[in-house]
Amino acid sequence: MTNTLPFNSTMIRDLFTPLPPEQEPDNIPGFLIVLQSSSLLVFSESQQALFQDGSLSADIILVTKPLRIGLWQGKPLRATRIAPAAALPAGYEALPFQGPDMRLDNTLATIAGRAAQILHWEQRSHFCSHCGGELARIPGGWGKRCPACGDEHFPHIHPCIIVLVRRGAEVLLIRNAAWNVGRFSLVAGFLDFGESLEECVQREVREEAGIEVANIRYVGSQCWPFPSQQMIGFLADYAGGEIKPDGVEVVEAEWFHEDALPMSPGGKRSIARWIIDTYSKRSA
Ligand SMILES: [Zn+2]
Repeated sequence: MTNTLPFNSTMIRDLFTPLPPEQEPDNIPGFLIVLQSSSLLVFSESQQALFQDGSLSADIILVTKPLRIGLWQGKPLRATRIAPAAALPAGYEALPFQGPDMRLDNTLATIAGRAAQILHWEQRSHFCSHCGGELARIPGGWGKRCPACGDEHFPHIHPCIIVLVRRGAEVLLIRNAAWNVGRFSLVAGFLDFGESLEECVQREVREEAGIEVANIRYVGSQCWPFPSQQMIGFLADYAGGEIKPDGVEVVEAEWFHEDALPMSPGGKRSIARWIIDTYSKRSA
């Protein structure tokens, strides 16, 4: 069940209640999420907790006004950022919620991801992309409206397919040109104009690996807040052609026997890993 993956709501449903931003309850003490790029600021000695209001060092310079994103254990939860290069006072550290560093537990990684996705939208929705006018909130949600031209703008969540292609006991893995040698994952890519999700799967596999697939079926999805994707997972069966990576975006594409997969395909919190673990045997 992909609902239970990190970054999906189920992971934090007992702790977090999302709320629209304008119902800010004034002066009610709560919790603060402080992000530094894709890391969550924590006290070094008690890593698995959010900051309570008033507990943050005055030496930490916030670059955005804390924004209420919901309730955490029934109290207001506000999110903000510090500069990516800001030095941290003694006693603090920034733990990544993306990547191989798994010191942050999945609950905190998930709420940090939610905050990051919201702040990303907020920081990129000050002005209308149609006329340049200053946007105003639409009450009751995260959408915004342009008083000058009337356009409405809603949070940008980008749909991406991700697919495990199987040929008997073998699975197709690819290495993106930006990845280190030895790192492999599943074929994935953004939905394009005029495509069904299944057509997107066929095109991406064709583009990245040069082969055809059939029997495409949906297996689950995951919010991926880096910065704001929706990963839509599929299985597919090999249907023809010889593997030929495009050499630009994808530099390696190979069939791996499911008993002999490379180390750690996909990030530990990713739906890529979940699909591989669920639909093939994994040796690493
Ligand atoms: Zn406008």
